[in-house]
Amino acid sequence: MIVMKFGGTSVADATAMLRTISIVESKLSQKPVMVVSACAKVTDGLYEVIQLAEACKQESAADAIAALKARHLGIVDDLNATFTAVNERKNREIRGKIDRIFTTLKEHLNEGNMSECDKAVIISSGEYLSSSIIAYAMNMRGTRTGWVDARTMIVTDDDYLKANPVSEALEKHASRVVKETCAKYTTMITQGFIGATADGKPTLLGRGGSDYSASLIGMAIDADRIEIWTDVDGVRTADPRIVNDTKGLHKLSYEEATEMARFGAKVLHPLTLEPAQKKNIPVYVLNSMNPSNEGTAILSRAIVFDGIKTLSYMENIRVINIYSMKMINTVGFMEKVFKTFAEHKVSVDLLSSSEASITVTVDASQNVDGAVKGLSRFADVTVDRDKAQISIIGKNIIGVRGLLAAVFTAVVDSKIYMISQDTTYLNLSIVVDRPEMSDVLRKLHQKIFENGYFS
Ligand code: ADP
Ligand code: ASP
Ligand code: MG
Repeated sequence: MIVMKFGGTSVADATAMLRTISIVESKLSQKPVMVVSACAKVTDGLYEVIQLAEACKQESAADAIAALKARHLGIVDDLNATFTAVNERKNREIRGKIDRIFTTLKEHLNEGNMSECDKAVIISSGEYLSSSIIAYAMNMRGTRTGWVDARTMIVTDDDYLKANPVSEALEKHASRVVKETCAKYTTMITQGFIGATADGKPTLLGRGGSDYSASLIGMAIDADRIEIWTDVDGVRTADPRIVNDTKGLHKLSYEEATEMARFGAKVLHPLTLEPAQKKNIPVYVLNSMNPSNEGTAILSRAIVFDGIKTLSYMENIRVINIYSMKMINTVGFMEKVFKTFAEHKVSVDLLSSSEASITVTVDASQNVDGAVKGLSRFADVTVDRDKAQISIIGKNIIGVRGLLAAVFTAVVDSKIYMISQDTTYLNLSIVVDRPEMSDVLRKLHQKIFENGYFS
């Protein structure tokens, strides 16, 4: 069996859905399990609806909901136009289902304060809509497709908007549900991103979480491979939205891909590789707009060569400097610092230290006020805003001759606020001013990948 996950752009409209469906239909002999995201930008739209409701802008929220509904009904119309005949009963059924999804959404949308569980229900509408419409289209085309509610498989804790899977229960439920569905149908489709607690309360796996869902299901069913279908020809030497002449990567190790994603590359959710790696299942990143491209295989590190693979970036970070003379010759200072970050649920990315100071970076989306207040009780703290972090990722980059020389020549005109190399030699990161990030990224890419110096 294989798991095939399709992201938002791969199911953005009727044309994209039909392209996706034909990719799946060409692989029916491999027994695909489909995992889909919401149509492109729909999840953003649902977050916006919540914000509008919270700001008591009821009319704007209602308009946004109506536009989302019209978009999905429009996709059904466009799909119907491609069928030789429309089955009126099935057409009514899918329209009824879309209606019910929006009714549920509205029931959970309150003025003012909504619970995180309510928000999870509202935001999950995107994946319920896209998966229901694709299942409808596939069945209309004669591909017997079973639609499965991901909440019956993906068991999580109750951190509603960024839930963590409960592995044992998840494996048990997902393997049973997939087995039962595939016994009845040629293929099955479920939603990425969505889960539920053991007592059935709706949860989400965090933004971009559909990749993670695919990998969790792949692990549960011992899939032969997991395919992540997106809008680029596999993982590239940098984000093609910023750098023009990127090259495709044939192979990456699980560790390299995880590091790349953890340090900002949006192409994969950072937790995707963990379940796959547990069972040594290969993960392929492929392009639904160009299915003949071989994409990138993510495999065990033993099969992957050493050296630089890709550049990733985090475009808005903060640098927190913690200074105290008391740090000199005292035991347990670091512990105090990290306890404070943990108490305030602040996740730290890079770290460097000297005799009397510790410097860390954190993603700007986190609220650091509490942590800074806590740290200020025993140290002098400053926070530098508007910084960006660029990471050079690759197995054993320590062995790459001349790497630091290349970094310094590429950034000769820019300030470097911090340099950090991780101890497993997978990642060398630098911190620069945010407005300079794209330029530095391009220069680094040119130096490392375009002049043949390191190939
Ligand atoms: P999906 O909706 O299919 O999940 P995403 O937008 O989450 O797609 O991820 C795909 C995007 O990731 C690409 O369009 C690209 O801009 C971005 N990206 C960032 N870094 C890389 C990289 N190294 N290689 C390929 N794509 C990357
Ligand atoms: N639709 C969700 C998001 O936009 C999950 C995903 O696409 O992976 O974050
Ligand atoms: Mg994604």
